[in-house]
Amino acid sequence: MDERRPFDLAGEIRRAATGPCFICEMLAGRPGYVHHVVAEDDDAIIFLSRYPTQRGYCLVAPRAHVEDLADGFSRDAYLGLQRRVHDLSRALKQVFDAERIYVLSLGSMAANSHVHFHVVPLPRGVPLARQQYHALMAEHGILELDEAEMRQMAVAIGRAYEGRR
Ligand SMILES: [Zn+2]
Repeated sequence: MDERRPFDLAGEIRRAATGPCFICEMLAGRPGYVHHVVAEDDDAIIFLSRYPTQRGYCLVAPRAHVEDLADGFSRDAYLGLQRRVHDLSRALKQVFDAERIYVLSLGSMAANSHVHFHVVPLPRGVPLARQQYHALMAEHGILELDEAEMRQMAVAIGRAYEGRR
């Protein structure tokens, strides 16, 4: 299992609560908001989490700044996002030796309000007490992956994803 390093959760909460929307900033190409992009199209973008707790930790977001999962999308737009989540799940299974693919939509109106899905491969062999939320929470530390490793991962997942579409 990969070692995790401590994460400055208080600092991140402060940034998320007081800063602009990190997804819109990333889409606008603003410095400081660059992420490793896995795949993108006219309506959505898939990118690696900057603070991964697992290898291959991806986020899927619509390009449009929509804040309400229930009322902000037409059924077709929502299902379109879920199709990407499913294609990505299959790509992650292909690239990583994943036992499960975890999918969550989080955020709030106070921070990270732009709807996005966390799509995360759970590696095989993680003890039960370290699965589920424990496996996802930055409170338990994040992985230290260098830029080259992140880039390589984004390319590998992107190739597998494009092969699934
Ligand atoms: Zn946004």
